[in-house]
Amino acid sequence: MKHYAWTHLDKEKFQNNLIRWFESEHRDLPWRKDRDPYKIWVSEVMLQQTRVDTVIPYFERFINRFPTVKALAEADEETVLKTWEGLGYYSRARNLQQGVREVHDKYGAKVPDNKRDISRLKGVGPYTAGAILSIAYGKAEPAVDGNVMRVLSRILLIEDDIAKPKTRKIFEEIATEIISEGKTSEFNQGLMELGAMVCTPKSPKCLLCPVQEHCQAFAKGRQDELPNKSRKKPPKVVPMAVGVVRNEQDEVLIHRRPQQGLLAGMWEFPGFEVSRGDNKKEQLAKQLKEVYKVVADIDIRLRNIQHVFTHLKWELAVYQGKVNRPVPERSDLKFVPVDELENLPFPVSHQKIIQMIQEGTE
Ligand code: SF4
Repeated sequence: MKHYAWTHLDKEKFQNNLIRWFESEHRDLPWRKDRDPYKIWVSEVMLQQTRVDTVIPYFERFINRFPTVKALAEADEETVLKTWEGLGYYSRARNLQQGVREVHDKYGAKVPDNKRDISRLKGVGPYTAGAILSIAYGKAEPAVDGNVMRVLSRILLIEDDIAKPKTRKIFEEIATEIISEGKTSEFNQGLMELGAMVCTPKSPKCLLCPVQEHCQAFAKGRQDELPNKSRKKPPKVVPMAVGVVRNEQDEVLIHRRPQQGLLAGMWEFPGFEVSRGDNKKEQLAKQLKEVYKVVADIDIRLRNIQHVFTHLKWELAVYQGKVNRPVPERSDLKFVPVDELENLPFPVSHQKIIQMIQEGTE
């Protein structure tokens, strides 16, 4: 192993300090009420790239609707996406359901309790596998995410760039060395909680920190320099034109995205990537005709909407329009009354369009 940073650590004392602090100070979160591996799985997937405060109401709603492996495995995907709506990163919901279906069909609805089987489930990466195995089953498996890498970088003064995928392996090896065998759940959750509440990205609360005496960054006054994280590239800007296109009955045309790729399976108002410039309206009309054989008169621009994904920024120019010929039958294209739009899953950027239509601000 390349890193020996942990060998300077008084492992037992560190574990005790961390675990005792976690046991007395941890937040009362809904997924900590029991050790149901399914619920821990759902919570960990929701918590990826999303803040705890945001996740709580979604988690409660999701678990009320799908309280068991069986309930989620048997649900139709559209209902799952609708329940997830607003949380973003929808591939997480689809992968979660596929993984849960595998558990239902292959393992009699019992989430596997070993690394080999659990790691093969759809959407279960090393972090989620480690979290479920350690928290639900008490297995000595590390659960290393960005928060844990930040905490360990500081405590052990590790300078590797945490934005690089290979660095995670280094931290997993270290976490495996220092994990408390008897109390794996409390240890892993303690590291996560410390990262969330004390050893925060900016201005860590070192004076209140339960493991301050073990922290090499604090000893050297370097806590604000770590972790070492290289800057991500700014997201690519994609200009798009989107149409709120109606028929004679005043229903609105919507399109279902393909089952693969970004926002797979969600509904949207038909839209296309366009080139910059003043002719977006014409580009929209042309693409509607070429791609969907929809002939429409595109009218005024209603508003502009921006939405940022991890690597992508959509700049949506939203237009209104009216079809002037019958629309061909396609399973991914339909007209719906405005008051039925909210029964279908739409990405956040298009929910803003729905709100605009419903409020009559178009
Ligand atoms: Fe983080 Fe400060 Fe605690 Fe070190 S002493 S682990 S930098 S909060």
